[in-house]
Amino acid sequence: MKQIVNQYLELLSLSGIESIKKPAKIEVPELTPAEKEHLLQQKRIEYSDCDMCQLHLGRTNFVYGNGDSNSKLMLIGEGPGEQEDKTGDVFVGVAGQLLTKMLTAINLNRDDVYICNIVKCRPPANRNPLPDEVKACSSYIQEQIEIIKPEFILLLGRVAAHNILKTTSPLSQLRGKTYKLDDIQVVVSYHPSALLRNSSFKKPAWVDLQRLRDMMQPNED
Ligand code: SF4
Repeated sequence: MKQIVNQYLELLSLSGIESIKKPAKIEVPELTPAEKEHLLQQKRIEYSDCDMCQLHLGRTNFVYGNGDSNSKLMLIGEGPGEQEDKTGDVFVGVAGQLLTKMLTAINLNRDDVYICNIVKCRPPANRNPLPDEVKACSSYIQEQIEIIKPEFILLLGRVAAHNILKTTSPLSQLRGKTYKLDDIQVVVSYHPSALLRNSSFKKPAWVDLQRLRDMMQPNED
């Protein structure tokens, strides 16, 4: 099989194609903080012209992720919105501003956490990403998790929860529990956009954040 792949790559090379852009799952060794940051910057550039799903057709910017690559907390949302597509940065629209306030409420600066999304290109009219789009993009998020190696992940909303936890359970049933992804403790809450649409979600979201804060606090000492 390896020989066939090599022959295929050789054939492509002879045709003037240098490589196939494939975000292969990688085993990431222990990296220094500077090496992590450098690797993520490299990956951002390497994947920025990805065309593995139809979402590339409507994007202005590929939105990889922002924040502290050495943070012990990683936040994963759904996909870029209009402002994120315009700027190339995650969570910079109204929902992003709310997220910043939510983090501040548990004494976290958003620059001190790493934030990214399940899909890196904006779905049209902010619709949910389709299963084939999520599948096409999934190796990017897996790789980000492997590079950052956070201690905690907060999944924001149903799309993130279903795809990282590989479940179809309603969000209401997924909240309030702690999941393990290898050594990472994973919790689920509402997406900030949902809080903007329905203020009744604010109270349970606050409960989720307080719980996350309590989980992280023993490690603050
Ligand atoms: S959403 Fe992901 S898989 Fe689809 S084009 Fe963008 S980066 Fe590639």
